Amino acid sequence: MIQDIMPKRFYNQYCPKDPEPRDTVFFFREGKILAGTDEHGFIRFPEVKDLHPEEGGEPADRLLRYLFRIDERACYLCEPDSDLMAEEAEGWQYHPLRLLRKSKPKEACFAAMTAWHLYVWYRDNRCCGRCGKALVHDPGERLLVCPSCGNHVYPRISPAVIVGVTDQDRILMTRYAGREHKGNALIAGFCEIGETAEETVRREVMEEVGLKVKNIRYYKSQPWGFAGDLLMGYYCEVDGDRSVRLDEDELESARWVSRSEIGDEPAHVSLTADMIMHFKREVSAGQTEAADIPAHIRGTWYGHTPGIPDSREAYAVVIPLIEREGEYHILFEQRAAGLSRQPGEVCFPGGRIETGESPEEAGLRETAEELLVDTDQIEILSALDAQMGPSGAPVWPFAAVLHEYRDTFSEDEVARVFTIPLSWFGENSPRRCKTELVTRPGEDFPYELIPGGREYPFRRKKQEVIFYETPEAVIWGVTAKITDEFLKKL
Ligand SMILES: [Zn+2]
Repeated sequence: MIQDIMPKRFYNQYCPKDPEPRDTVFFFREGKILAGTDEHGFIRFPEVKDLHPEEGGEPADRLLRYLFRIDERACYLCEPDSDLMAEEAEGWQYHPLRLLRKSKPKEACFAAMTAWHLYVWYRDNRCCGRCGKALVHDPGERLLVCPSCGNHVYPRISPAVIVGVTDQDRILMTRYAGREHKGNALIAGFCEIGETAEETVRREVMEEVGLKVKNIRYYKSQPWGFAGDLLMGYYCEVDGDRSVRLDEDELESARWVSRSEIGDEPAHVSLTADMIMHFKREVSAGQTEAADIPAHIRGTWYGHTPGIPDSREAYAVVIPLIEREGEYHILFEQRAAGLSRQPGEVCFPGGRIETGESPEEAGLRETAEELLVDTDQIEILSALDAQMGPSGAPVWPFAAVLHEYRDTFSEDEVARVFTIPLSWFGENSPRRCKTELVTRPGEDFPYELIPGGREYPFRRKKQEVIFYETPEAVIWGVTAKITDEFLKKL
């Protein structure tokens, strides 16, 4: 992308210094940039040595605003109204900014785009927005200060998202209505005040194409000085109906394009093109690096609201994920032999939700007690759907990362702990069996109150019982069911 200028380096710190003859100077006028080309056809910009200060006027360096540097070469902005250059002479000419998207070398284009972003900020912040007095430049940082009311004005960046909405092998490609850029685009839009970037993703996709999305994953970001943006790229999957409802004010078209139909996009400039090409190259969407697991879990259950248990008896458990040797493991407990309920069986840390406690609080409290850890070592990633426990009471699971765990546990409640890598579950399917849940009325059951009396056809609930025969122990029952539901969604 345009900011990837290795082996050159961008030094963004504000460390003004005196201009030197080979330093770069950017001139902008009416949305255009002063540039020329060298003998190789590379874009070039005026240098300090090319300036022609007016005789008897301001010395050139008084009109130059330090911006940043690329390696040892500093970049300056020339104050907009100065007349240091006779542009038509010496091959200099004002060009539309889009020239920067197809020129070389890359570091020059990136520097010019970033200079434009700063230029717009300086240009549009001459006076204090609070009291109207002229702003002055702070000598120590990139900041404008109002000498009258003390208002501080920092550079303005607009956060925006770019969204690759996918459906298996297809990605949703759009074209903008009434814009200069005619190429392929993805859904995009600005973050509103009060909104998270993930919420922007959901809102923009709904507004522009009328689709619901799930499994929102952050990809990477890009400074996009042309529009003063910081672009954040996300992928997500369409959820439910695939038919597009186009916002015709924004978009000219939106269509599903399969990997094989994607042509070559010039991915060296824009995040949009990079994301289209990344999707094309992505062979198996199911492969997730260990480091991505927490982000993946957050995205998968993003916005999920767990329901309220209607039973007074309810339980909460934590699925503790531990990173070991570059891979995430699930931690299980084996219950102490002396416990009255289910001694010796395998379970997750957790327990009964007490009055006034949320399921999440109960899960954290019980896990901390059983594993002898602090609650701030338990990073809850998401609430999952409740499962029915052995007594019919709901069990609320929470996926969490357990940080800096030292294999501790309370011997009163726990016989031992062990971990199973996520990859083991990928390679080993559980055994699935059926049971039936039967209603057996008690002695005092008033058969006369129901149609058919003693012959009433009570429904029988078929239940699946799952068994994981892990190298450490057999995991079954509600613990296996929770594990299975978690892994299915993961
Ligand atoms: Zn002011």
